[in-house]
Amino acid sequence: MSKQHQNNEVKAKKFLGQHFLEDETIAEKIANSLSLKNYKNLLEIGPGMGVLTKYLLKKPVTTYVIEIDRESVAYLKNNYLNLAPRILEKDFLKYNLKDTFKEDAFAIIGNFPYNISTQIVFKTLEWRHQIPEFSGMFQKEVAQRICSKEGSKVYGILSVLTQAFYEAEYLFTVPPTVFNPPPKVESGVLRLVRKENDRLPCDEKLFFRVVKTAFQQRRKTLRNSLKIFNLSVNLKANVIFEKRPEQLSVSQFIKLTSLIENDAVNE
Ligand code: SAH
Repeated sequence: MSKQHQNNEVKAKKFLGQHFLEDETIAEKIANSLSLKNYKNLLEIGPGMGVLTKYLLKKPVTTYVIEIDRESVAYLKNNYLNLAPRILEKDFLKYNLKDTFKEDAFAIIGNFPYNISTQIVFKTLEWRHQIPEFSGMFQKEVAQRICSKEGSKVYGILSVLTQAFYEAEYLFTVPPTVFNPPPKVESGVLRLVRKENDRLPCDEKLFFRVVKTAFQQRRKTLRNSLKIFNLSVNLKANVIFEKRPEQLSVSQFIKLTSLIENDAVNE
């Protein structure tokens, strides 16, 4: 083990989800997963010691990185001089992305801190009008969940909400052994490409509420789990309400939302 590796091991902070990738081939493969279409800016979340950043800097886009850990930021400033003005020492979840990107489009990439995976995805969905592409590594289970289709055991809130706006593709699996320190789980790399139309033909807030409410009781039929929406007897007679949430495709969830929306209007 080299000195650099030993240093990383000592420095890695568990509460920040720090697992440094040590396999250069995988870092390059993640960087190459970007299509580079429809944006000129790139934001890497959690660059750590810059193993992925190095390959991103070779791309014909402007790379920014956002890193919460002061020691990693100091390391990056010393080792990537050209990047220094574009290092944001911030918490991605709290950062107002307009402060850097204004109204411009940017892609997101990273070997993400796994302890905040879901929040990273939800923030991306909130900002989707400016984020045409999203690529990177999560714990395998989360990556699979995001990309899974109806009928699958892991299909849930994250799958439906993400795929309402993005085409999701699971790219490849990465074993724990290529990280320092190794995580307890396998990792998975995915890519999200925003759909041409990132607005829904139904009330978007209601769509989020319907999906979340339905999956909160995933074993129940929609007739039971969606009771709080006060549906009319007429609407509840629709066969769609006999289904369970995991049986509904994204477009069926959109249709369901429209039905509920119009039901409320008619009452
Ligand atoms: N990309 C590096 C490090 C991955 S570990 C590599 O592949 O080796 C995840 C990184 O995310 C750590 O450097 C950690 O400090 C950083 N991080 C954790 N929470 C963060 C947050 N809320 N905002 C920005 N960075 C964060």
